[in-house]
Amino acid sequence: MDERYIKNFWKKVDKKDNSSCWIWIGAHCNHGYGHMRINNKMKMAHRISWIIHFGDIPEGLEVCHKCDNPECVNPSHLFLGTHQDNMDDKKRKGRNKSLQGEMNGASKLKNYQIPSIREKYSTGKYSLRDLGREYGVGFEAIRRIVNHISFKNI
Ligand SMILES: [Zn+2]
Repeated sequence: MDERYIKNFWKKVDKKDNSSCWIWIGAHCNHGYGHMRINNKMKMAHRISWIIHFGDIPEGLEVCHKCDNPECVNPSHLFLGTHQDNMDDKKRKGRNKSLQGEMNGASKLKNYQIPSIREKYSTGKYSLRDLGREYGVGFEAIRRIVNHISFKNI
């Protein structure tokens, strides 16, 4: 992969430490996956990460997430599977139909965390993105929480 694309890639990754999710802070497609333009084509960020770290993706295989966080580009959270593996994996995790909540990681949050997220947001000192980073979820998940779209009965 071209050096300048690799440079661009790293500019858009929020890399905390080696074991946690590395969050893509660049553009996202509407399925929650990060993406980036390469040779005038939109490529998925986790696939780019795979290529940077491990080389080409064998034909017919897909890059899947062990952590179930589509924004994550940490190579140690990725694995290669067939399309069928990926579908089975998604089905097992119950997110093939109702993507929204799960795709942006809201399901990782516990009920007890919700009041403090809303309280912090109401102070105006934290952006959705700040809070998302703090809690390891996408800003969309935080937006839904502070707007009482998700975790309604808390
Ligand atoms: Zn991850």
